Amino acid sequence: MRCILLLLDGLGDRSQPVLNGRTPLQAAYTPNLDRIAAMGMNGLFHAHLQGAALPSELAHFLMFGYRLEEFPGRGVVEALGEGLDILEDDVALLARIFSVAEEHGYLVLRHENPDLDQKSCEILHEAIRHYSSAGIEAQFLPTRGIGGILRLRGAVSKHVTDSNPIIENRPLMEVFPHRPMSSDPLAMDTARFLNKYLRWSYRILSGHPLNEKRCKNGLPPINAVGTQRAGKLSNLPTFPEKWGLRGLLIASGPVYHGLGHVIGMETLRVKDTDDPARDLRERLETAYQAKGHDFIHVHTKVTDDAGHTRDPSIKKRVIETLDTALDYALQVIIPDEDVLFIVTADHSTASSGTMIHTGESVPLTMVGKYTRNDDVRRFDEVICAAGGLSLVRGTELMHLVLNFLDRGKLWGLMDSSDDQPFTPGASTALRIR
Ligand SMILES: [Zn+2]
Repeated sequence: MRCILLLLDGLGDRSQPVLNGRTPLQAAYTPNLDRIAAMGMNGLFHAHLQGAALPSELAHFLMFGYRLEEFPGRGVVEALGEGLDILEDDVALLARIFSVAEEHGYLVLRHENPDLDQKSCEILHEAIRHYSSAGIEAQFLPTRGIGGILRLRGAVSKHVTDSNPIIENRPLMEVFPHRPMSSDPLAMDTARFLNKYLRWSYRILSGHPLNEKRCKNGLPPINAVGTQRAGKLSNLPTFPEKWGLRGLLIASGPVYHGLGHVIGMETLRVKDTDDPARDLRERLETAYQAKGHDFIHVHTKVTDDAGHTRDPSIKKRVIETLDTALDYALQVIIPDEDVLFIVTADHSTASSGTMIHTGESVPLTMVGKYTRNDDVRRFDEVICAAGGLSLVRGTELMHLVLNFLDRGKLWGLMDSSDDQPFTPGASTALRIR
């Protein structure tokens, strides 16, 4: 048997007054998702702890059965997804150029997402591309738009705080070592270096002719760099080693490809078009045809993007659109007894409030030859809670996958040197002659 997991990114939401107190998913007309829930075993899922608001890459990492402490950091995941040159000892941070105003000796963030054409982005990125001091070298590696990766090379540590406050009208933050590393020389040097780089790049960008021209035209200058989520490569067991399953990840966003790289899961890079239902249908078809893999993760980001619009009606419509693609799952995937089909999300992205993502659990349905039938007839954040799975958290999801693939090992058996959760293990036959 193999598993196809459909992940609707950021699907969960909050009750919305504009939808008569329902979530976008509750308010949406989703006959296909509802039929799948009616055929399956249902519950709620949280990749970590209820209430914890998780970024996508971390939620996926935990969902795939890894521990929080093992996470290498978003900076390095995104850098790998963008195909950038990152070595074992490098530190990679998410970085972007944006608009700040100098007030009483501090830099206050004015526009975190300034509108800047590609050519201007390239010119400003080039101006702050190289910086070195005290044996540490920084390179600003552009990725898309105003964004990039700041790669640090030398004796550096990933245990440093962010400088980007993200929220406008707040000051850029001084970088410090994480508290437990506060006397670690590497972390202290890295923090000191980053603060120097941030001050230097402000001076360079502020005096740049392109910004002088913008100011003359009444436009805000793009005059500072903000950094966040430092990361470093780490040695992890691969997904096949951990779960005995050959994994395939089908997604459009570089961060998911980077995650696949980090955990040794094959990735298929797909593109988003202006027809998300057709995109999803094609991804499901590809997943079903990928018979050389045992665990296929099908991802769509459009639900999360819709949540970020802060308009619950847009998210409701997007969910309804995606639902139409699920006729393929009902007609082809679910009738195949050799497939365990799962629908869930990585986290909630509420279309109200100020949080980037939110900490509510998300609905989960599992349909396969060995799943129990329950009384749930509707796929949403409330009704699924009454299903046979109840609340599933973190690593439990992958153990359930093994269980419903009929691949779980009886705990305590040792059929290989590693105490792996799946069967069969990598055993060696006893030779008698
Ligand atoms: Zn997400």
